[in-house]
Amino acid sequence: MRSKRFFLGTQYYRPPFPRDGAWEQDLREIREVGIDAIVCWVVWGWCEPQEGEYVFDDYDRLFDLAAANGLEVILSVLPELNPFWMARAEPDAQIVDVMGNKAVNGPRLECLSGAVPGGCSDHPSVRKRMEDFLEACGKHFGGRSNLKAWDVWNENRWRNGVDGTVCCCEHSTKRFRGFLKEKYGGLDGLGRAWGRRYCDWEDVRLAPKQASCYPEMHDFLGWLNQRNEEMIDWRLAALKRGDDTHMVGSHTSLPSACGGVALKEDLFARGIDWDVAKGDFYGLSLFPDMTGGEPVSPIDITIRYEASASAAGNVPCLLSELQGGPTITAGRSTQPLDADRQQAWVWLAVSRGLEAAIFWCWRPEMFGLESGGFGVTSPDGFADARLKAIQSSVEKLKETGIANNGFRPLPPEVGVVFQRDSYWINWMRSREYAPGYYDAPQYTLSYLRALEALQQPYVLLDDEHIDRMDNYGKLKLVIVPDSSMLSDKVAAKLRRFAEQGGVVWVEGAPGRFGEDTFVREASEWPLLKGLNIDVRFYRASSSTSREIPARMLSNNDPLPVCFDHYEYTLSYINETDSKQEDCAIVTSLGYGKIGLVGSSISWPTWQENPERLINLVSHLLDWSAVSTPISVLNPNAHGCSVRIGWIGKNLHALAVNYSEPQTVKFKMDETIGGFSNLNLVDVDKVYSIDMKPWSYAVIKLMRGAEVMAET
Ligand SMILES: [Zn+2]
Repeated sequence: MRSKRFFLGTQYYRPPFPRDGAWEQDLREIREVGIDAIVCWVVWGWCEPQEGEYVFDDYDRLFDLAAANGLEVILSVLPELNPFWMARAEPDAQIVDVMGNKAVNGPRLECLSGAVPGGCSDHPSVRKRMEDFLEACGKHFGGRSNLKAWDVWNENRWRNGVDGTVCCCEHSTKRFRGFLKEKYGGLDGLGRAWGRRYCDWEDVRLAPKQASCYPEMHDFLGWLNQRNEEMIDWRLAALKRGDDTHMVGSHTSLPSACGGVALKEDLFARGIDWDVAKGDFYGLSLFPDMTGGEPVSPIDITIRYEASASAAGNVPCLLSELQGGPTITAGRSTQPLDADRQQAWVWLAVSRGLEAAIFWCWRPEMFGLESGGFGVTSPDGFADARLKAIQSSVEKLKETGIANNGFRPLPPEVGVVFQRDSYWINWMRSREYAPGYYDAPQYTLSYLRALEALQQPYVLLDDEHIDRMDNYGKLKLVIVPDSSMLSDKVAAKLRRFAEQGGVVWVEGAPGRFGEDTFVREASEWPLLKGLNIDVRFYRASSSTSREIPARMLSNNDPLPVCFDHYEYTLSYINETDSKQEDCAIVTSLGYGKIGLVGSSISWPTWQENPERLINLVSHLLDWSAVSTPISVLNPNAHGCSVRIGWIGKNLHALAVNYSEPQTVKFKMDETIGGFSNLNLVDVDKVYSIDMKPWSYAVIKLMRGAEVMAET
């Protein structure tokens, strides 16, 4: 399914901007720098100004102009941006929050031409209208020769503009009850699961104070996840009814594993990547300077790429929106956008196997808070340099063969499990009792950062689709970050993986909470059942420093780590000689091993001293005999990314330097990910490249290696 190519695109039109007087010249200039495709937003509210009357003439003109300039067009269709007549046409379709408040429609912060939150798609007639619109778009544009693809899931902001938990309208409530009926078989089953006695379905509704109500909130968000999964299905199907020849995909804003909360919405309200990456491609948006504080670090950027590519699986992963110019909110710029920094983001995407980078956007934004910002051509003093750098990247993509063949990274030998339920329970605690406490993603991110620092390829595995582990035949190590709600299904799969020779590393109390949201005795934790490990709980002490015991580590040096608030020690039940309790333990299971540490250590340890976590992960790689494709030998090895991958039939390294000028030196591992039979590759050679800040280099690794492209 993967196209194995790489192209550059740019967002161009979000009605009514830019005004049509600019189009001709802009499209000519876009083509001149070598960009292949433009993106246009097809806003429902704009395209159906009166019921049943579609107006597409502006897009038709853009298609013609794009064709005349040799540009392809990607259409991003937004049914969630409703027509302004919606509330009048469907008065009982408004989204309702948990307090019973009806939402009022209005334009979106960054889009004037449609209304949010609009009608609830659980309302049959609203849903039908949305599907009709998608189908009409497909029919109208499907025959265009320069139509490249459709995107029907633009960050899926279906509930923009409403605070609180939604949707609790009568249509949604009916569907939620249907979900519960199916899950629990009836009112008695539901009562048992939720710990109460119900006599009528009418009494089953979401409570306003959810912190005390784990079971229903867990089921409600479970239903929302399922609803999002259905939403992508019906969006894809409706569009394909109108045009069944072009690719139809979707994209997220921030990958689920890296966050999960957008604006004031409930956790994962926009869907979980692995559940909704069901189209012909999946993508993400990336605006590194839009954080309000420090820009997103290059390591965290690559993690976002990997998270999205992991969810995309077998279909292409696109960088669907990439910051085009300086981010500006309310007239203030964060910082100008340096051209080389921007291109480094592009080449990092290439190095993780992504297949496109689409700049957001070409011209500066025209209205509201974002006025003047974001455009590749925004006047921050760097616009000309950005255009030149884009042009140069286009040339290098062609020279190296990446434009036509893509860059396919080596298959991963390390997996990291993303657990929606562990994020969920952490989020539940934070929302009522400790606002701002939600830090579950940091536990996952800490391991990923350590893997990045070690230049180690990995894949993220999600709990619901844990069987996809089987698609990665080379996996040797699976890391399970903070695991307070590890499901039985995941535990069973991990045990099988260990039995067959894999190594599983788990932190925290794996499965302390059951899937019913009720707490379990340690003897019931599914991962540990029958392993003869004794778990003893301790009162949290003020000192949080512990040591991974020396006997677990190859260099016999105990490794200090930091513990979270919750802790226990471990020992082997059947050990006859002096029973030693440790904070961590490794036990054999079948041909493999399970390692366990008695607290969630990754994030506290990373905060205290990142090198310690990197050191621990390095030990985990050793235990599991994971091959490290390369060793980076320069002193600032963390200030660059080096990835090995295939361009066509040839093995290449792609290096990006994101720190001060340095000579990046690396050496390939003898086994380079199991490809030791490739005797064409120079394994003893130390490659050495002088690199400027924010520069990239592509090196052919066959004997007689050459640097193919360099900035
Ligand atoms: Zn609703």
